[in-house]
Amino acid sequence: MVDLTTQYERIQPDMDKAVLKLIRSGKYIDGEEVTAFAEDLKVYTGAKYVIPCANGTDALQIALMALDLQPGDEVIVPAFTYAACAEAVALLRLTPVVVDVDPKTFNIDVRKIEEAVSSNTRAIIPVHLFGQTADMEPLMEIARKHHLYVIEDNAQSIGSVYTFSNGVQKQAGVIGDMGILSFFPTKNLGCYGDGGALLTNNESLAQQLRMIASHGQAQKYLHERIGCNSRLDALQAAILRVKLRHLSAYVAARRKAAAAYDNGLKTLSWIETPHCLPASTHVYHQYTIKIKDGQRDAVRQYLKTQGVPTMIYYPLPLQEQAAFRNIVRTGGDLSETEALCRSVLSLPVHTELEEEQIRAIVGKIEKSKSKHSQ
Ligand SMILES: *Cc1c(COP(=O)(O)O)cnc(C)c1O
Repeated sequence: MVDLTTQYERIQPDMDKAVLKLIRSGKYIDGEEVTAFAEDLKVYTGAKYVIPCANGTDALQIALMALDLQPGDEVIVPAFTYAACAEAVALLRLTPVVVDVDPKTFNIDVRKIEEAVSSNTRAIIPVHLFGQTADMEPLMEIARKHHLYVIEDNAQSIGSVYTFSNGVQKQAGVIGDMGILSFFPTKNLGCYGDGGALLTNNESLAQQLRMIASHGQAQKYLHERIGCNSRLDALQAAILRVKLRHLSAYVAARRKAAAAYDNGLKTLSWIETPHCLPASTHVYHQYTIKIKDGQRDAVRQYLKTQGVPTMIYYPLPLQEQAAFRNIVRTGGDLSETEALCRSVLSLPVHTELEEEQIRAIVGKIEKSKSKHSQ
């Protein structure tokens, strides 16, 4: 699905230099590279405060801890997503309330949020899935009306830009109260291990986030609150500084690949290509199509025999997972999520994909039809 070794080879001289410099510095925890990366990320995202941490899941947990919620308080999450956000909510003895998604954009359906709000609801975690932002203008209006915090799960959509109706543009992750990033190797900005960060424009939240990620300390050996140990390794920060310089080019390569798929697949009536929300740009963390005739698994199987890797993001809705079944509250009808779990298929999309490879994949997708309709 991805080609991280070729990507590395293209930047090898710079990367090797940065990694060796860090190893030779003898400074592996915190220090200059971590601070410098946080500064670089502020410039890239427009966030006032950046707090690096160990991974995206930790970032979600730290963000929730900063809100000082009480057991039983509810947090709204989309039903169709990776489980990390509901997991962080449940770990803190809060109740995840799952809301259906828009079948076109795969993101939380803002028209269905209000009916899920109760007197216990404290926060919403919109996930910017596959590379585009949730519909943040109406979502922020609902949050304001009901006094809810907004934590953006931006693990998949760094660099995606949302345009408000008054023309104001903001990057995903700096629209709500806090945003989280993951630098898992396959994410659009990935390191060579685990990494994550929190974004916020709120100074007092930033202080809390920093403290929580560092054992609840504002000063060494003075523990003001219960925190955790969540640091971005200096080595990963050095790696990320090199890769951040290429992120715009990486996004452009992903967009080019997506356009080639769009073009190749548009004549196939049984396939729905990704729909772009007019207000958001798309950075194509995934290129996810829908197979409309119920033959998704047959298509996937055929492509596998032809050497084309595909993935199903995501095969099972949150409310049907064994870990979550008995603890989530369902905020209304979830039929769109259930239908998506049966029809989505993510095709290979990465920075090194050539148009020729895409043409070959499209050809095999076309052929899969004649195979499974016989
Ligand atoms: C990857 C991902 C996470 C978790 O990030 P890690 O760094 O792997 O902990 C959270 N949410 C979403 C939507 C993700 O894709």
